[in-house]
Amino acid sequence: MTRPQVVIIGSGFGGLFAAQALADAPVDVTLVSRTVSHLFQPLLYQVATGILSTGEIAPATRDILRKQANATVLLAEVNRINLASRVVVAEKLAKTIALKYDYLIVAAGAGQSYFGNDQFATFAPGMKTIDDALELRARIFGSLEMAELSEDAEERQRLLTFVIVGAGPTGVEMAGQIAELTQHTLRRSFRRIDTRDAKVLLLDGMDVVLPPFGAKLSAAAKTELERNGVEVRLGALVTDVDATGLEVKDKDGSTERIAASCKIWAAGVQASPLGRTLAEQSGAELDRAGRIMVNPDLTLPGHPEVFVVGDMISLDKLPGVAQVAIQGGRYAASKIRGELTGHPVTASFAYHDKGSMAVISRYGAVAKVGKLELSGFPAWFAWLFVHLIYVVGFKNRVTTLLHWLITFVGRARSERVTTEQQLVGRLAVKQLGEDFQPTIAGTLNPGKIKH
Ligand SMILES: Cc1cc2nc3c(=O)[nH]c(=O)nc-3n(C[C@H](O)[C@H](O)[C@H](O)COP(=O)(O)OP(=O)(O)OC[C@H]3O[C@@H](n4cnc5c(N)ncnc54)[C@H](O)[C@@H]3O)c2cc1C
Repeated sequence: MTRPQVVIIGSGFGGLFAAQALADAPVDVTLVSRTVSHLFQPLLYQVATGILSTGEIAPATRDILRKQANATVLLAEVNRINLASRVVVAEKLAKTIALKYDYLIVAAGAGQSYFGNDQFATFAPGMKTIDDALELRARIFGSLEMAELSEDAEERQRLLTFVIVGAGPTGVEMAGQIAELTQHTLRRSFRRIDTRDAKVLLLDGMDVVLPPFGAKLSAAAKTELERNGVEVRLGALVTDVDATGLEVKDKDGSTERIAASCKIWAAGVQASPLGRTLAEQSGAELDRAGRIMVNPDLTLPGHPEVFVVGDMISLDKLPGVAQVAIQGGRYAASKIRGELTGHPVTASFAYHDKGSMAVISRYGAVAKVGKLELSGFPAWFAWLFVHLIYVVGFKNRVTTLLHWLITFVGRARSERVTTEQQLVGRLAVKQLGEDFQPTIAGTLNPGKIKH
């Protein structure tokens, strides 16, 4: 007799933790994801700024689940879900697969939102994937290299100006790290420029940095950023971005052009387009960020066999954080297991907030856990401890700790390799557009490329 089939879409926090929670359940699990790894997004900024290697924050999903006999991992991008016939269709290169399910867990996460200005992406990449982090690494270190080559003072200042849009945790962490790099780490590495002349600007349309942390920690974070050389400009809306800079509109209506070659977009998220597919077929509503409104038990209206978890959902104003995805994935697994073992779970999904943290500088962070608010070194130490626990895999923990020792004790960055392909690869693939026709072997089909 075949066992019930559970298909999970996504190998992020929601998908992986759901799969692991089904290890002993009487089901076969197929986890299908468009990436081969489980990405620990909260540490992407450390890959972008040369602290960690990609492998440390993105171990292979296949490896993590290798001992789980009931789990199969497939690399493919889901582009269709048919709720009526309970089939998921996914593709990789020229290969299409159809997966029949009895239960479906959708955990496809979210991407960057440019609030309708997708053309900004070319000049100001976001930070959601390993590709993004490597491209940003190439842009950050590349700007400094180009500044060293430049003979023109104006051009040099443009190359030494780094603008981060969005003062949430990602923007704050990126700004803090670029300031640390230019003010300290790379200070003695260049001969023709002084990296301390670099300008690091953190812009946000709102009036505070890190709004969910509350007034006290927001103020502490802003003070710490400024102490480390970051210029924080609040109430500043970015209205245009191009290759050489960006335009900013201040609250008083005045506009200003800022010349900067390295721009980073850390403002706004847009849920996976799979949410729309689910909404169209089930009648569920989507919010402005494309998140789907699910039932209190994380199921899709009218489809008790379909769960949606993590960044894709809109429920009780839950934040888009790792714990919501982890707990949601585990809850969906418990519902499935309960139903199959005669112990149905009747309680709604209840999120337990374990707190939030953001690193601002070397030894400086803010942390909010319930009513407890920490800043400075105690918050940074708490961050170190929590993140080491959540980094997946023993080997990764050891090498991550080693890299952190190198960076936090000695201020060095050992993961600074950048390649031209990382810098231009995303744009090159985009330019190839529809002509990008990979063969099954994974090589480009030259016949399809226009010269
Ligand atoms: C830079 C950054 C920093 C962050 N920092 C923090 C932090 O400090 N603390 C915190 O709690 N949260 C943080 N978050 C948020 C946290 O990472 C997310 O809330 C969490 O990853 C959401 O989990 P998820 O499973 O919903 O989605 P994800 O983890 O994004 O996983 C989505 C998965 O779906 C796959 N996928 C997407 N589309 C398809 C498709 N069509 N077919 C197949 N597979 C698909 C992806 O490859 C991926 O494996 C941060 C996020 C970012 C981007």
